[in-house]
This record gives sequence, C-alpha cells and structure tokens, in this order.
Amino acid sequence: MDGLKRLPIEAPERISGITRLAFNMWWSWHPEARMLFKRLNRAEWKVSGHNPVKMLNGIDKKVLDEAAKDPDFLDHYDRIMEQFHSSVENGGGKWFEQNICEPEALPIVFFSAEYGLHRSLPFYAGGLGFLAGDFLKECSDLGLPLTGIGFMYPDGYLRQKMSANGWQESLDEPLDRAGAAISRVMDNKGKPLLVKVPVIEPPIYVEVWKIEVGKVPLYLMDTDIEANDPWNRKISAHLYTGNIEQRLRQEIVLGIGGRAVLDTMGLKHPVLHLNEGHPAFAILERIREAVSPGNRFADALQNVKGTTVFTTHTSVPAGTDVFPFELMEKYFSSYWPALGLDRESFLGLGMNPADPRAGFNMTVFALKCSSHRNGVSKRHGEAARHIWHSLWPGKPENEVPIGSVTNGIHVPTWIEPKMELLFNKYLGADWLHRQDDPETWEMIRAIPDKELWNTHYWLKLKLIMRIMERARDKWIEDRPDPQVVLAEGVFLNPNALTIGFARRFATYKRASLILNDIERLKRIVNNQWMPVQIIFAGKAHPADDPGKHVLQQVFNAAKEPDFGGRIAFVEEYDEQLAQYMVHGVDLWLNTPLPPFEASGTSGMKASLNGVPNLSIMDGWWIEGYNGKNGWAFGEKEAGGTAGGGKSGQQRDTEDAAALYDRLENEIIPLFYKINGDGISNGWMQVMKEAIISAGPRFSARRMVKEYASSYYAKCLLAVAR
Ligand SMILES: *Cc1c(COP(=O)(O)O)cnc(C)c1O
Repeated sequence: MDGLKRLPIEAPERISGITRLAFNMWWSWHPEARMLFKRLNRAEWKVSGHNPVKMLNGIDKKVLDEAAKDPDFLDHYDRIMEQFHSSVENGGGKWFEQNICEPEALPIVFFSAEYGLHRSLPFYAGGLGFLAGDFLKECSDLGLPLTGIGFMYPDGYLRQKMSANGWQESLDEPLDRAGAAISRVMDNKGKPLLVKVPVIEPPIYVEVWKIEVGKVPLYLMDTDIEANDPWNRKISAHLYTGNIEQRLRQEIVLGIGGRAVLDTMGLKHPVLHLNEGHPAFAILERIREAVSPGNRFADALQNVKGTTVFTTHTSVPAGTDVFPFELMEKYFSSYWPALGLDRESFLGLGMNPADPRAGFNMTVFALKCSSHRNGVSKRHGEAARHIWHSLWPGKPENEVPIGSVTNGIHVPTWIEPKMELLFNKYLGADWLHRQDDPETWEMIRAIPDKELWNTHYWLKLKLIMRIMERARDKWIEDRPDPQVVLAEGVFLNPNALTIGFARRFATYKRASLILNDIERLKRIVNNQWMPVQIIFAGKAHPADDPGKHVLQQVFNAAKEPDFGGRIAFVEEYDEQLAQYMVHGVDLWLNTPLPPFEASGTSGMKASLNGVPNLSIMDGWWIEGYNGKNGWAFGEKEAGGTAGGGKSGQQRDTEDAAALYDRLENEIIPLFYKINGDGISNGWMQVMKEAIISAGPRFSARRMVKEYASSYYAKCLLAVAR
C-alpha cells in the first residue's frame, strides 16, 4: 500500500528530480530551493502563488528543456538536490536518535484539525494550524519519527471580501487538488485508498492524501468523495463548521477515522499526540483495540493514557467543543458497548464536574484519558490548572497535573531571506544549526545599525508596495467604492512609524482596543512631525458575528477621512500576508484580554525579524518580555469580559489608556530620535534585543526538543512495559 498518485510533470531526465522536490514542502523552508523554481520563470512563479506544483503543471515544456541545458541552472539544481537528498531522502537530522532513542522504537502520531504549512495549502484558520505546521517541519529537521494526520478541506477556511460598509463576506475558493503539493494515496489494487470510519452508522468513508513535509509524512482525510452521501461529503468541506452536529461528525472522522486510516496503511504508532481536543476521539479507538475479555476498560485506559500526550491551546471557554449528550448518544450508542461501557460511564468520560449538564466536553475527555498534558506557555499552564482544577478535586491547584511547553516558531520558515543573509554574515553561515544556543545570537550586536536598518527598511517598503499593488488590483478588478480602496492602505508612508496588527478577529483579541479613544488616537497618528500608521489584517470566523462587528469597527476607522489614511485594513490575511507583515512593520501590537491568549506566535515571528512587540502581559510575552526587547502595557490580571459588559468596558478603557501612554511617552519619541544618518540608535537597540531574546527561546527547535524530552521519552517507558 501507500502507492501515490499525482499528476505527472514531464521534466527532462537531467532535471527530473525537480518533481520530487516540488512535491515535498521542504522547498518552502529553503530559500535557495524556492529560488530554483523562481529562476525557471519569475512571472509563472508569481502567478502560481509560489506553488511549484501548479507552476510546473502549467509551464511551457521548452522552459524546462532550456533549463536542463543551462549550466548555471544545473549548478543550482545539483546543489539543491544534493542538500535535499542528504537532509530528506537519505539521512537527515539525528538529534532524536542521539538524544532520545532509536526512532524505530517510538513512532509518534500527531493529530490536528488544521495545519498551516504554506499559502498554497489552505488547511488552516490561524495560530493552531501554524503551530502544527511548524511542529512538523521542526520534527523533520530534528529527525523525529512522527506522522501527522488531519483533514483535507476542499473549500479551505474562507476567502475574505470586505463590503463597502465594512461587513465581512466570505467566499468559497475550492482547492485545485491537481495544482497542490498533495498526492493521492492508492490501495494495492491501484485504486484510491478508501477507508470506512469504524462503528459509526450510517457509514462514512474517507479517501486519503499525503503531503510530504521534509521527512515527515502528513496524511489528510477527504470526505468529498463519491462513496459518501451529500451530507457526509460536506464533513471536510470547511474548517470548524458552525453546525454542531456536523462539527461532531468532523471530529468523529478526524479521531476515529484517522486511527482507521493509520491502521489500514499498516502504520504502527504507539505514541499519540493530540493537538487540541478536536481529534480526541482517537483515544477511544486505542482503548477499543486494547479492550478484551481479559483486559477491561479500566486497564485498557491505563495503558493508553501512559502513551498519550494532550496539548490544550485555549483558555477561551468557546474554544472548547462541548457536544450535547443526545447527539453523543445518537452517534455513539453502538460504540460504547465495544468499550465494555454503559451509557452513563461513557458519557461520564466527557463530563465536566464543574458543569456536569453542559454535555460531552472534548477537553475534559482528553485530559482524563492522557497522562501527559500541557498548556502552551507558562501562563497558560497556570490558567489551564485553574480552569480544570475540578477534575482533580483532591489536589491543590498548583499540583493539577497539567504542565506547559511554550510555543515556538519554525525559524527557517519565518526568518525573512534578506534578514537571513544578514545573519549569515554576522552569526556565521551555520547559525541555523546552532539556533538554540543563546551564544549564537549574541553576535546580533555586531551588526552595524545602518545595515540592520537598511534591511528592515527595504522590507517595510516591500510590504507597503505589496499593499498598494493589491489595492490597485482590487480597484481595477472590482471597481469598488473609492473609500474602500482608500481604506486598504494607499496612503501608507514608509517613513512613518508603522504598527502591525494581524490576527483572527476573535473578540478576546480586542482588535479595536487601540480605537478606544478616537480623539486621542487621531492626535497620535496625525502628528505632523512624528506620524504613526497602523496596518490591520485578519478574518472573523464566518459564524462569529461579534467578531465581524469588531472588524467592521476597524474597517470603518480605516475609511474615516479624519485618520488621513493612516489606518489601513488589508483583506485576506493568509500565510503570505503574514510573512510580509511580520517582516515589514516597525512594531507588532498585541492587545488580547488576559488570560485568554494562551500563547500567541505572530509576535515571535515579528521579534525574530527585529520587529519589537508592544503587547499586553499575557501568553508568551510574560516569558518573552525582558524590559529591553519591546514594550508591555496594561494589567496582567484577568478581568473584564471580551467585547462587552460594564467591567469589560472599564477594563478596555484602562488598557487603552496604558497603551496610548506607552506610545506617546516612550515608543514614538524613541523611534523618531534619529541621528544624521536618519537612524534611531535607541530603536536599533530594541530591534536587536528583540532578535536576541526570541531566536533561541521561542523557536520550534526548543519546543520540539522539550516535547521529546519531557513527554515522548516518558511514553517510551510506557511502551516498553
Ligand atoms: C502566525 C499566524 C497566526 C497566529 O498568530 P497569533 O499571534 O497566534 O494570533 C495566525 N495566522 C497566520 C496567517 C499566521 O501566520
């Protein structure tokens, strides 16, 4: 099994490896590999959205024939293929083998509802997805024996379109399966592999696609297939569907179907890592397989727990799925007998003692059925111990067995290539290999201010030009109300202090906090000598009307002539726009309501590229802020309510005032304290501290090593038993 089918790309023999390269996302975190594709044809590369599979499918065969005779191209090609071969096809990172165990002894399967790997694979909604994508890439780099599993969403998340009155419309943008770096998994008769989700009636089937992420295979399930009736076909249509029953069916397919897919393919996986509660039903399948007349549920659960890792990612109550008991009954009444359980004991697995009638809580269920549990920052670990204390009533809160592993970002993915060249020059060409040694980063101090500023300024120009070109395209194509185009950044000025805010428009993120005192903000942005501009981007979940209202407020501010075009809202936040923004703005703004930002990762991406954070004390910033590498404001303590309520308003007013104070008294004066070269040395100091503090600590390298040492290594003991 595991034959793969993909569209054939006909390349001349001499460069035939280019197809293998295109179908492995490894190219996405190796700038020289991306350059190889770009070099074939710059325009096609751009048109394809930096997607080599799409590009090679459409390219004139003559281009490839010529490349196969061009000595410069061949030189580049040979170098890349050699690197690809030695780091993916034959060899690769040995850290796991050298520090944990023989990879064969500990295959790990990682379940996640979303993966953010690249703009060409729209299988993500936000941070959870990028965390998962960065995780897989780092596992490849470090040589972890890990397999990922998730969903192929043929309609992606949503394509955002703003109407003239600032209301978000969402369009579907069906995925072109043939133009993506995905391959269909075939069975041994050469037909698409078809897997039935066990026990669930009426039956649901999935087909399977594979994405190669360096050395790590990622399998994605697709329900949009002929074998399914129409309702079932739509199960994987969108991420996080709003309909509760369809949502339950998604999670059944993800967890139970996912396990079945792995079994069918003969992939053994003694360790299970659940990224959030969505795939937690996978645990049931493990128990079901372990239950037998001689091994009852309680014993089977005990075995399974020891090799299950559960990572919770939210402290927002709405971020946890709770399914009504009637719905659970509808789908699981034929399932619980297979576990040797009755209705009460089965439903009890997901019952939250603090709210027993609410329904089957996926986080509660996952916490009860895993021995290794963690939040995603130190602060989030504390928050999680507080929220879930009632599950361990006999323990004091600080002994609740939920630890923490702070999130990190995949450095090769998020470092901007020009910045990377600068680091090569001052940190040494092999700095990526030494990235988790703090010593490596000390050399950032040796970069002359002017050189760092020039690189940053170039990236800022690139961002602003990009935004203007998008606005121009929209102007030509959609003929919108001129005010809509003006709201999208045509008045941006590369010399103004530029603040970036790009996130999902979930209300707890408080995108409109900075608009709290409109008059004060007008004075700040319109200061003739020290102007400030703010670039916003982000999508609201299609079912989240309060989130859409916040977005509307921001969009209307961007349209407001009194702001002079210094506030911009850029449509369609995706991986590509995220890259431009975290590289190109001067300051990264983060204003969530504590304690709801479990970690946050976009601020880490910004920091790595020398863009300091201005953040409330929550999530990773509590660990990240050191007094020199950016700014903190506002109360760290929980309080207020996201998006409303009197105490919420009071809290917002206070936090906003603290934010304006920081800007007016510290940040703006420092940014504009420029010397004869047009550079603020004080600002450069903060930029450098941002890089030095983020590089070694908030990387996926540090994070994956921590998961491996703290959790996977312990699972090994349970596997051995
Ligand atoms: C990094 C990233 C996120 C997550 O950002 P947060 O700081 O966690 O809100 C969301 N979307 C995109 C496109 C990203 O690149």
